[in-house]
This record gives sequence, C-alpha cells and structure tokens, in this order.
Amino acid sequence: MQFIIKTARQLFLGRIISGTTMSVKSVTTIPDKTENTTSYSSLDSILWCNVLLIVAAHIAGVYGFYLGIAAAKWQTVVWTAFLIVFAGFGITAGAHRLWSHRSYRAKWPLRLLVAVGQTMALQHHIYHWVLNHRMHHKYSETDADPFNVQRGFFFSHVGWTLCEEHPEVTRRRKAIVMTDIQEDPIVVYQQKLYVPLAFVLGVVVPVMIPGYFWGECQRTSFFMSFALRFVVTSNVTWMINSVSHILPGSTWGSRPYDRAIGSTENRLVAVLAIGEGWHNYHHVFPWDYKAAEFGDYSANWTTALIDWFADIGWVTDRKTVPERVLCNRVRRTGDGSHPVSSNEIL
Ligand SMILES: [Zn+2]
Ligand SMILES: [Zn+2]
Repeated sequence: MQFIIKTARQLFLGRIISGTTMSVKSVTTIPDKTENTTSYSSLDSILWCNVLLIVAAHIAGVYGFYLGIAAAKWQTVVWTAFLIVFAGFGITAGAHRLWSHRSYRAKWPLRLLVAVGQTMALQHHIYHWVLNHRMHHKYSETDADPFNVQRGFFFSHVGWTLCEEHPEVTRRRKAIVMTDIQEDPIVVYQQKLYVPLAFVLGVVVPVMIPGYFWGECQRTSFFMSFALRFVVTSNVTWMINSVSHILPGSTWGSRPYDRAIGSTENRLVAVLAIGEGWHNYHHVFPWDYKAAEFGDYSANWTTALIDWFADIGWVTDRKTVPERVLCNRVRRTGDGSHPVSSNEIL
C-alpha cells in the first residue's frame, strides 16, 4: 500500500512533494535559469476551491459527453464542436502566436475575433495568459516556470491550477516585459471587463444559443456547450505543458531541434491542439508564426487560419526561420531524427 501511495505521489506531485532542493538542468534555449532552495510543499498550498471547481467541471463534462451521445440534437453537437475549435483558435492564434510571441501582426478585426475566442476558453484574460506563457519560455522547466514539468506530469497538466504558485514564479514574474501587451486596447479592455465578458461569452452565449435557435433543452445545452467544451479546451491546452514536455531521456516524442530540452514533437498533440504540438521546434524558435517547421495544414489548422487571414489582408509580417539557421541548429543540437541531421552544415 505504501508503495502505491509513494508511486502516486511521485507521478502526480513530482519531487516537490518532499520540499527538497531542485537544481535546474542545463538547457541550451533557456536564457535565464533559476535555482530553488525553498522548502515548498504542494500539499500545503492546495487551493481547495479550485480543486472542487475543476473536479465538478470534469464530472459535468463527462455527463455532457453522455448527453451528446444519448440526448442532444445534432445541431448542439456541431455547435459544441464549433465552440471548441473557435475558442481553440482564440488561444493558439491569439493568446499564443499573436500576443505571447508577436510572430505576426494582425489588424483589429482579427485581434477582436481571437480575443472573443480566448475569452470563451475561460483560461484567464489575455494579459495573464501571455504573462504566464512568457515565463514558461523564459524559465522553462525550472521553479519559475508556472507549468514546471519537473514537478511531475500531473502538476504540469492541471496541478498548477490547483495550488498556489511557487514563490520563484512570483519573484521572477516582475522581470517579464509586458509593455507591448499594455499598448493593445483590445487586451487592455478585455482585462478590465474580463469577469462580465467571461460570464457572457463563456457561459451565457454558448448555453443560450442552442435553446433559442433550435429548441435544445437548457440542461443538455449547459452540460455540452459549457461544461464539456470547457473541459475539452482546457485539457487540450494543458497537454501542451504536460504531454509535450516529457523530460529528456524519455522516448515519448522526438527532439530534432534541441535534444537537451524537455519539449518534444508530438503529432497527436499537434492535431488535437490545432497545430501546437510541434513543441521542440517551438521552444527553439518561438517567433515562428507556424510554431512548426513544416506547413502541413492537416496538423496545424492555426497556421492555415493565419495564412487565410493573410490572403485577405488582415495579417502581415509573418515571421519564419531561415532555412540556413534551421539546418545549422538541427545539426548542432538536434537528436538526429531530423532529415538534415546527417547533411553538411550550410
Ligand atoms: Zn512549452
Ligand atoms: Zn509559446
């Protein structure tokens, strides 16, 4: 029994459970490294209110899935799927590639559109999302990374939402430059009005539309359009911090661009997260608007969307990595799985 408890603790809470010192491994793409000597226990910092909310949301989401099979009208199933993808674009094309990394420029109608999607996803306002994500890149896989995979798979997936942040996250947050975000009025007003906006766009509109337009039962609509949608969107987003950040040494996913970092290339995550699973590439070249080397739209719907908006003139200045830079990096730090690994350095 003790063995089971110990194994479960290591899986879900990682090494931090013992409060021992965590050293930060050497990684080539982390500009700032942190070292923690704080005795910090995840168990003492659990936010029980969040635990209850997340557990309740998941139970409701499972019930919503059942209703989707057993009771819902087909329009509600399509509506829920649309909401998942639309909110997903708000995260991937908006909060991530546009605001976090400035990998392309967008005119205000597109910024407004992805801001609506990001609000519907109910993953905190854009400013907070970007701040956390910039910390994740700057201090990746250290105590100052809000989703630090060194604290275990469960923590990097959802555990970080269930406990108070690590003191190192609080301390290092001040070093993150956010002036560009503060200059975007869409981001500023979304932050100011986030609570009412999140309630209306994240709950009221998704739940009311099926009842109003095709007479869906309000209960079915609530459990599918709100609970199930929230659970799916959240878990797919969290997979990028957990499944795509398996520690070096594991064989789960390849590292063609940098073998020393935990993030991997994972097609399953890429398909589910509409293009965000090429995570080894993304951590090496975070400014590339494709968040991937290859332009395969089948596993990167977000790139397809950005390219389409570029065609109609709403997107400009898409940043990509020059082939010479990419090939040299692959040769220098990749794990040998990339096709150019064995070629001459350009
Ligand atoms: Zn990452
Ligand atoms: Zn990123």
